[in-house]
Amino acid sequence: MKWKEQMLTLKAYQPGRTTDDVKKEYGLKEVVKLASNENPFGSSEKVRECIRSYADSFSIYPDGYTTSLRTELAEFLNIDEKQLIFGNGSDEIILMISRAMLEPGKNTVMATPTFPQYRHNAVVEGAEVREVELVNGAHDLDKMADAIDENTAIVWLCSPNNPTGIHITDTQLRAFLDSVPDDVFVVLDEAYYEYVTADDYYDALEIVKQYKNVIVLRTFSKIYGLAAFRVGYGFADESLIAQIDPVREPFNVNSLGQKAAAAGISDQSFIEMCRTENKAGLEQFYAFCREEKLEYYPSEANFILIDFKCDSNELFEYLMSKGYIVRSGAALGIPGTVRVTVGSKEQNEGVMKAMKSFLAETVKR
Ligand SMILES: *Cc1c(COP(=O)(O)O)cnc(C)c1O
Repeated sequence: MKWKEQMLTLKAYQPGRTTDDVKKEYGLKEVVKLASNENPFGSSEKVRECIRSYADSFSIYPDGYTTSLRTELAEFLNIDEKQLIFGNGSDEIILMISRAMLEPGKNTVMATPTFPQYRHNAVVEGAEVREVELVNGAHDLDKMADAIDENTAIVWLCSPNNPTGIHITDTQLRAFLDSVPDDVFVVLDEAYYEYVTADDYYDALEIVKQYKNVIVLRTFSKIYGLAAFRVGYGFADESLIAQIDPVREPFNVNSLGQKAAAAGISDQSFIEMCRTENKAGLEQFYAFCREEKLEYYPSEANFILIDFKCDSNELFEYLMSKGYIVRSGAALGIPGTVRVTVGSKEQNEGVMKAMKSFLAETVKR
């Protein structure tokens, strides 16, 4: 077969362990998954109502222009409808951008570690990947700017960054964008935007108005609690959207997802509740880390990366045996750490209790 050569080096995405799978293996009745930054509070009651009433139209293709969700979202964000693009998750928008821009001879700049899909798609397209190490969990924007040359097509910024939770400040972002050539496309992935409470965070809508080479990606998978529906969106200057749109599959966003996302937007009190609870949950983890003298990355997202300075796979396995699935830092490129999704108050207490007994047991040995 005449595969692209780089395909021979790529592995498919490894999904995390499912709760059913872990229940079976460890003989547990209850397993809590704090591994994929899903919303512990589920989703808005409004979404459930709207989906229940939607059972008669399964033979009809989805609206290929996402018309009604587009109208709702454009109004909500106060932008033009033509500034929006929708994806089967923001994952798909990452794929579309890569497909539209990257090819052999071009390069793309990103942090490491960051969200792995930027790199993955770039490799598929045969572009050179230029990765710049994080500094204390934050993007090294000066070094990233230095890595740009005349063949750079895309720069990926993830704010707050997955897996560290560190955001880019307004001052840092503007200084960086001022230094980037106009013909370099900057993708600002804000999958956790709605969780952010930092005062020095930028206003992405203003950024997009001012910098015509920037696209912002957001998703309904995280705070909206609609990961199962696979809906993400991007907003940018109209001309950029128009140039990506031909890559999009005709019916890429499913009908239920379009309805669910629109219902989700209409319930902002649910979003505020989740943001508040998440902040309180982060404080629980910070207090735990101080007590146990563990270093952590202060997070603006719904997860926290804690440095146990241990074999993170061992801790990962231990927590799983106690009924908590987290992400091992070894798998994320920061050995010694684990990334834990902030759960409900009780779930947080539970996973911290298990962490505590791990620490007690490792000290004993
Ligand atoms: C979860 C996540 C996404 C993907 O979200 P989907 O809309 O579910 O595809 C994108 N970027 C980052 C940084 C994420 O953490």
